[in-house]
Amino acid sequence: MHKNTCDPLDWLRPEIAALKPYAVPDAAGLVKLDAMENPHRWPAEMVQAWQAELASVSVNRYPDPRAPALKTALRQVMGIPADAEILLGNGSDELIQMLTLSFARPGALLLAPEPSFAMYKLTAEVCGMHYAGVPLHLNYRFDTEAMLAALARHRPALVFIANPNNPTGNAFDEAGLRAVIAQAPGVVVLDEAYYPFTQANALGWLNQYPNLLVMRTVSKLGLAGLRLGLLCGPARWLDHIDKTRLPYNINVLTQASVAFALRHARVLTQQAAAIRAERERLFGELRQRSALTVYPSEANFILFRAPSARADALHAALRASGVLIKNLHGSHPMLADCLRVTVGLPKENTIFMNALDAALAKS
Ligand SMILES: *Cc1c(COP(=O)(O)O)cnc(C)c1O
Repeated sequence: MHKNTCDPLDWLRPEIAALKPYAVPDAAGLVKLDAMENPHRWPAEMVQAWQAELASVSVNRYPDPRAPALKTALRQVMGIPADAEILLGNGSDELIQMLTLSFARPGALLLAPEPSFAMYKLTAEVCGMHYAGVPLHLNYRFDTEAMLAALARHRPALVFIANPNNPTGNAFDEAGLRAVIAQAPGVVVLDEAYYPFTQANALGWLNQYPNLLVMRTVSKLGLAGLRLGLLCGPARWLDHIDKTRLPYNINVLTQASVAFALRHARVLTQQAAAIRAERERLFGELRQRSALTVYPSEANFILFRAPSARADALHAALRASGVLIKNLHGSHPMLADCLRVTVGLPKENTIFMNALDAALAKS
């Protein structure tokens, strides 16, 4: 090999060199309840019809970046207002990146409640944008006053609010959200990744606030592997953000597969209903464990607090018995001792509860 003593740290942006990579644990062989995936499969006939349809997709051609058929299907299934534009991303993660790239003027700031979705802060760091987190209130309630004060203090170009929130699971007070959107000097993005599991829906607010964008994804609905997110809002914003999109970001297989799945949306909405019912069962079960503090959820996961200083051991014991959940202890001061479990199939949730009881029984 050519001898080169060149040091990456001499050339990389320091914020990239300092970054901790987004870690995805290996889940092979484990009951996977860590990533808010829909655990249900499609009926066999549906899988067959899907695969037959994919046979006619031209993988030798670039995808159509406008994806009109897909957007029409998304409009119908999600009830997106006719006067709102749609921008597609390779997952909503990519939309967060496109938004942040677009607004990262020198000195510009991204603001979000905390604790919330890790990608807001991470993407701000990657794109060289300042970041401020506003702590949630007791029991992770939306702290409207603190948010309004932060708007005045930081004048954020971008505000991201996940509703329902990840990793806490609760939906925020509507009046508080509206006050923040009304007072924000820049854009507010309401991230409705968990819309299949809640009544909260801000698509109808789009025509009331010129600075509001609503972001959704098909991931939590059951299509996480396909990578498709959407940003809805006025063309006056989206036409500019669209310029940061790589031309062919939604591949042909994803376009065809999501369009197919949306033609069978009933299967997905029935799965979401089953997940909501199972969430209530799991919530009731967890609530009976007096050692735990369990937080109400309008998403497809449940946050709970373990007895003091035991989250790491519980997480490891669960993993040793074949169940992978998310350990949030150490990720944020307000998440000390907290664990997050995704709602799985009924039998997976039972395996989880049994493993949890066994782990709790060990001193
Ligand atoms: C899971 C999640 C996303 C990411 O969705 P993708 O479309 O899979 O990239 C976005 N926002 C929140 C709040 C999430 O929990």
